[in-house]
Formats: sequence, structure tokens, C-alpha cells
Amino acid sequence: MLPAQIPLKPCHPPHNPKTMSDEISMKPVGFVRNDCTDPESAARMQDAKSIIEVDEAFAGALFMIDSCEYLDVVFHFHLPERESPGSWKRATKSGEVRGVFASRAPYRPNRIGITTVRLVSRDGNRLHVTGLDAVNGTPVLDIKSCNTSHLDDAPCGATNTIHTSLLKSNPRLAIQKHIMASDTEKLLMLAAQFHGHYCPGLAMGVMAAVHAMQQLDSDASTDGDKTTDGGKSTGGDKSTGSEQPAPASDGLEDLLAIVETNNCFADGVQLVTGCSFGNNSLIFHDLGKTAFTLTRRNGRGVRVISRHESPAYVREAFPEFDRHYQRVVKEQKRDNAAVAAFRKSGVERSFGTLGLDFDRMFDVQRVRVDVPGYAPSHESGVCARCGESVMATRMVDGGDTSTGNTGTAATTADTPKYCLKCAGKPYSVLDGHGIQAAGDGE
Ligand SMILES: [Zn+2]
Ligand SMILES: [Zn+2]
Repeated sequence: MLPAQIPLKPCHPPHNPKTMSDEISMKPVGFVRNDCTDPESAARMQDAKSIIEVDEAFAGALFMIDSCEYLDVVFHFHLPERESPGSWKRATKSGEVRGVFASRAPYRPNRIGITTVRLVSRDGNRLHVTGLDAVNGTPVLDIKSCNTSHLDDAPCGATNTIHTSLLKSNPRLAIQKHIMASDTEKLLMLAAQFHGHYCPGLAMGVMAAVHAMQQLDSDASTDGDKTTDGGKSTGGDKSTGSEQPAPASDGLEDLLAIVETNNCFADGVQLVTGCSFGNNSLIFHDLGKTAFTLTRRNGRGVRVISRHESPAYVREAFPEFDRHYQRVVKEQKRDNAAVAAFRKSGVERSFGTLGLDFDRMFDVQRVRVDVPGYAPSHESGVCARCGESVMATRMVDGGDTSTGNTGTAATTADTPKYCLKCAGKPYSVLDGHGIQAAGDGE
């Protein structure tokens, strides 16, 4: 069967039809076959296997294609448009507004898609590929050997020059992709690199954070006079709101996370939201609750709190773990087989937690948050006693013992200034017990 012609009509008539061809016709060389029908799940489709069924008429064009590991596939977004043409700008799923030429959105003038795929195998005129983000039935316009001469031959193809430069402009690219695709499993793996082990608490932090990231800009949040302090609920009312500023998490304090506990949960939140201790976007309320609030600078936030029933729900779902826990931790029976089984069931329970019913695990609230100002940048001074460099706000006047926890910068250049430790002043410590006062001198 020879496929029909596809007239590639521009969405808008060109301004000057005499200088631009009205219509270019192209003939599909084949069609995509896979299980995917929803273009919205494009990111998820990249992991799925697809078959490109090449038309018999182009069988000769496949000669030597087996030698290509990667192929560039050019295809036609053939499904009816969901959006009317406008300014050629749109919000991407991560919330960032971009022109279509600066994005991979399917909504574009000539509706052409291009994706680099991995050729897994070939069976006659059927190419089995992975990485193709096109729905079942998509007409394929062209297939080209991917020119990899500009790529590094790094192991696993994990890094190459294109990927490296993309990561340089957006280090959270992969994380954003996983959030958009609700791929909590990949995020848990990344979070565990940071956290050091797999546990249900980390998995819950990942689940809560993915939900909050997806919800934050998805609709208007509460407004008006119900402002509460530090992430308390204002109830679930949803009013219509104006446009949200919607940059992705950029590590520049435009997105803030307020965690209410310093445990495994908090590390899942940090990895997914990109709000961390080091970039001043993580705020800690020492309340001992498995909860966190995600907010933008406008103070409209989403608070996700673990329901008090959720630990029992997780235990019930994975009863094996308790048996191993009892044996290894409580009864101290630490033979190799028992420890291995304990570890394995712990990993299974962590990943399994991701698949539990979110609504049974968490409550979600729209909240108003008093957002602190951007973190100030401070000069540094040198402690007159230890000679170490110290942030100015953490230096105190040597002769003055009335200053408090945070100290005050010394006022005159002649007064010796000390760090809090050398001055014997109290300072705050965050450890496994929460925030505490410490340092009454040594
Ligand atoms: Zn943990
Ligand atoms: Zn000192």
C-alpha cells in the first residue's frame, strides 16, 4: 500500500504568498506502531518500544540500516490540534513559557517532529526502536542515520556534548522530565544517590514533592484574607487567579520548600523540588511532622502532609518487611542470608510505596505562606582570635557579651571582632535532634 500524500500546509497563510510556497506535499515512508495513543504522555513514550513500519516501496532505502545504532526520525504530528494558533508561545509542562522554536511542543507551524531513537533490531521492513515520542499511527516522513561524530564516546552514551551543554543551561533537565512524566521511580533512584539508602520515608518525600510540583502552578490557588503563618492550611478553597510566574525550580529562591521534619522525607523533597539547604530555598520548621509546603514568591503554596494512617498502610502493604525487620533488628539474627533478605525487602517496600494510593497516604492543602525576603549576601570578616573568615552577621564585638544568638556586627573598626565560638556565645545547631542551642564556649 502506498501511503497517501500529506499536504504540509502552514497553520497560518504566509503573509506574502508570492514569496512562499503555499503547499509542500510529502509522502510518508512508513508509520509508527506502538501502544501509545495519548500525545500528552510523550515523555513516558520515550522508554517504550515502538516499531517503525516502513512501506515496501522504500525497502531499498533500508539497506545497511542495521549498522546504525541511532536514527533521526522525522514525523508528522497528524492528530488534530488541541490549541488554536496564537503567538507561537506556550507554557511548557514545567511551567516555563517558550516560543515553539525554543521547545519541542507538537503545536508548531509545519507540525514536524524529529527525535533521535535507538535502533534495537530490524525485522524486514520493521524497525524496532526505543526513544520515539510519537503516538501509534504517526506518519513517518524520513529516517536518517544519526550523525554521532560530534558526540563524545563516553560510556553508556550517558554524556555527550549535546547533553552536556543542555545540562549546563539547565542542570535539572532530567529531574524536570521525570516530574512531568510522574516517574517517581527514577526520582527515587536519584534521591537515594543523595540520601544514601532506599526507604519508604524517602519514597514518600518523592511522592509528595512530585505532587506539589505538578499542582503548584496547575490552577489558581487561594487568595484573599486567609493568610496564615508558615504553611498552615487555609482550607481547600480555589479561586480563580491571575497568571502565575512559572519558572521551573532554578535554585535562585523563586521556589521555596518549607519542610516540617528533618528526616528521610526531607531529602526526597530536596531532590525533587531543587530547594536545598545550600541554595537558601529550603526552610525548616522544627515541628516533627512529615509534611512540607511548596510555594512561589507570591506566597501561594501547596502543603502536602502524610496522613497519620499512612505508616500502617505502608506496613500492611508490605508485611514481609516487618518479618525481616523483626528477625534482623529486633532479634539480632544477622546471618548473611537474613541481612540480604532484610535489605531486599526494604528496597521492595521503598519502590512499592511509590505505587500506593496517594490519597490514602497524604492530604493536600492550598495555603498562604509568609515568604521571607531573598537571602541577603554578607561581607565576611576575620575573627581576631582564630583567624578564620566569618560572615559579618556571625561576628561579635569582643568586649560585648550582651549580643544574642545571631550576634551583631561590631560597630567600630578598632574593636576586635570574634566569631561566636571564640566569643563563647551560643549559636544554633541542627542535628538529628532538631534545632538546638549550642556553643557556650569551650
Ligand atoms: Zn531514609
Ligand atoms: Zn574565631
